[in-house]
Amino acid sequence: MRKILVAGNWKMNASQQMVGELLDGLVAGVQAGGNADMAVFPPFPYLGQVQSKLQETAIAWGGQTVNPAEKGAHTGEVAASMLLDFGCEYVLVGHSERRTIYGESDADVADRFAAAQKAGLHPVLCVGETLEEREGGETEAVVARQVDAVLEKCSVRAFADATVAYEPVWAIGTGKTASPEQAQAVHAFIRDKFAALDAIIAGQLRILYGGSVNGSNAADLFAREDIDGGLVGGASLKAEDFLAIYRAV
Ligand code: PEP
Repeated sequence: MRKILVAGNWKMNASQQMVGELLDGLVAGVQAGGNADMAVFPPFPYLGQVQSKLQETAIAWGGQTVNPAEKGAHTGEVAASMLLDFGCEYVLVGHSERRTIYGESDADVADRFAAAQKAGLHPVLCVGETLEEREGGETEAVVARQVDAVLEKCSVRAFADATVAYEPVWAIGTGKTASPEQAQAVHAFIRDKFAALDAIIAGQLRILYGGSVNGSNAADLFAREDIDGGLVGGASLKAEDFLAIYRAV
């Protein structure tokens, strides 16, 4: 049985005051042993604040990206060991904003995934098609290509300790959610792809949906067989909005 994960990607939105208030609200609303797991992904400068507020709570946290190198001359970048130093359990890799705005290729994403996992972090591999690709009937080919880049570098065994997030680019931050049927179809495609390599890993793999998830659409999405939770952007920035998604489970 896969437990639902509700994950909040704060992107580049935070201040010490906002983080304090948001985390106080989440800690008050989340039960240890609840129906869902919860994780938050703050911008790097707030990891220390998040660690002190969330240690010894049921809420996990992680980085929004990670550099493949262990250390050295990479100005502006953050290594996996640094995320671990701040208690991170998870790290996002290949978010569509990293791919499109910062030019991360499938190969870069695979390198980041591999480095994160080697260091002991749990990578959340983000994949998804643009609107143009969906309209061109390329959704499965794009998602398969993004997943294959990591499978080829790391092998299916790496996914025994990883998560996949299907995030159609056209649904991120647009208020346009994929319908539960659309999302389920792609999730089933992803799970089948893993099942062809390893049925046990495929059965245990959490596949999150991301793209304008909110308190009103979460229950319908999470009820689908292959949707194991959500990666949430905008609605993760206010405790009551994020808790509404958590409670929809
Ligand atoms: C995201 O950032 O991964 C995301 C899904 O954002 P939003 O929920 O705002 O669409």
